[in-house]
Amino acid sequence: MIIPVRCFSCGKVVGEHYEEFQKRTAKGETAEKVMDDLGINRYCCRRMILSNVNIIDDLIKYSVHGERKWLKQLTQTQKNTLKQAHT
Ligand SMILES: [Zn+2]
Repeated sequence: MIIPVRCFSCGKVVGEHYEEFQKRTAKGETAEKVMDDLGINRYCCRRMILSNVNIIDDLIKYSVHGERKWLKQLTQTQKNTLKQAHT
């Protein structure tokens, strides 16, 4: 989870609500209702929750400590796709 702790605009703490937001929206509740319940009312704070992209799974692949183990796990087709994407 990489989400800013505070709203960039107003400084309200929003990071603490992100897990509950994810759980409840995954169960089918609307984002609007969940944010209303959590007290995230300003649109600047709502955008912090809504516009967050959870990219930790993508970033961890490039970790120095991971030593690119992910690369060894790829199939040949996936490696070819990666090569084509970067040429
Ligand atoms: Zn805000």
